[in-house]
Amino acid sequence: MPELRCTVQTCLHNKQFYCDLDSIRVGGSSAQKPADTCCDSFEERKESMSNAADVTGQASARSDIDCKAVECMYNDNCKCHAGKISVEGSNACRCGETECATFHCGCK
Ligand code: SF4
Repeated sequence: MPELRCTVQTCLHNKQFYCDLDSIRVGGSSAQKPADTCCDSFEERKESMSNAADVTGQASARSDIDCKAVECMYNDNCKCHAGKISVEGSNACRCGETECATFHCGCK
């Protein structure tokens, strides 16, 4: 299970750059570069949610990654086998504005 660091602080699940989900989905079945991937588990944090609620949640460093970016060299049967991945998209409002920055195309 990779260590997951995430800069998407507009996401409901982001807790101090970790994700509070035990498992996330990464999309981009025909991705050839990081920008073609996205975190499908992104959910926008709404203004009305208080910060107090954020700090009480638990987030572990490791998450199971169900990844559709099959061209990635770390992808084996839609599971990510990288030691550590970085999801980025600091001002994202939707999934398409996030990406797996660790994606490395196994193509030529
Ligand atoms: S490193 Fe590759 S296999 Fe792992 S989540 Fe990112 S795109 Fe998917």
